[in-house]
Amino acid sequence: MIVGHKKQWDYLKRSFKEQQLAHAYLFCGENQIGKKTLAIEFVKLLNCQDINKPCGKCKNCIDISKGNFFDFLLVRSGEESTNFEGMFSYNSALSDLKSGEVLSDKKEIGIDQARKVIDFLSKRSYFNGYKAVIIDNADKLTVEAQNCLLKTLEEPKGNTVLILVTSQQERLLTTIFSRCQTIKFFANKEIRKLLDNSEKNKKEKEILDELLKVLNGTLAEKFAYTKNLKEDGVNTKEIFEILQKYFRQLLLQNTNSDNAQKYSTEKLIKIIKIIDRLIYELSTTNASSKLALEVLFLEL
Ligand SMILES: [Zn+2]
Repeated sequence: MIVGHKKQWDYLKRSFKEQQLAHAYLFCGENQIGKKTLAIEFVKLLNCQDINKPCGKCKNCIDISKGNFFDFLLVRSGEESTNFEGMFSYNSALSDLKSGEVLSDKKEIGIDQARKVIDFLSKRSYFNGYKAVIIDNADKLTVEAQNCLLKTLEEPKGNTVLILVTSQQERLLTTIFSRCQTIKFFANKEIRKLLDNSEKNKKEKEILDELLKVLNGTLAEKFAYTKNLKEDGVNTKEIFEILQKYFRQLLLQNTNSDNAQKYSTEKLIKIIKIIDRLIYELSTTNASSKLALEVLFLEL
């Protein structure tokens, strides 16, 4: 499912339908908002066998998803983790080249990789469709590699599409820039919400992990933890809320925490009530949040 980017997607679909495709696109916009996902959908659109393109179900669509489609190559730098299932599967049609292969084990994408891209695009389409290359994090292309790609951009052959995906388009040569059709991506509300939630969850988990260590420690360690909290620093209220959420989950027994056996139901209810009261006191009085946390730690 594609979240957001309807305008960009509609534009690409229309260009394809009207046979107005560019040979090279630059997908730019901040990280993790779905540029590469859309680029892969685009490759499916170009090669789908169904009337309703991209169907996501035909052999071509599935093979593209798996990174095992002879006319598709995904290039990225070695630092990138593999987000796509099967992206490393061997592509027998490409002799020494694998579809979706990490073409560089370095932080940058160099001239050897650029040459492979050119070679790939210069060969006939295996399925008589579109040959497509996605270069993810194209800003990692060295200047030499970018210059090498320019030739392909200047003299594109047949049904080929090169998609450069980047969050740092300023790192690309202006000559590259001017030969690509730029499609800008924005984090819209839906995507922003997903991003914010994952960041918030990550932060909460870090705080909770630390708290659980403290909870299982000695009294001295507990006090050391509260002592090191800055009164106006880490939001103490947030700590209480995280603990409250955690103990509620323990009460509902829907967590696999080691502490699940440690507290009786009565004890858990008591703890949750104490946290409730402390949160209330902190928000209505000038009570010290450090002291409040110490009170709570004594109960745990
Ligand atoms: Zn399809």
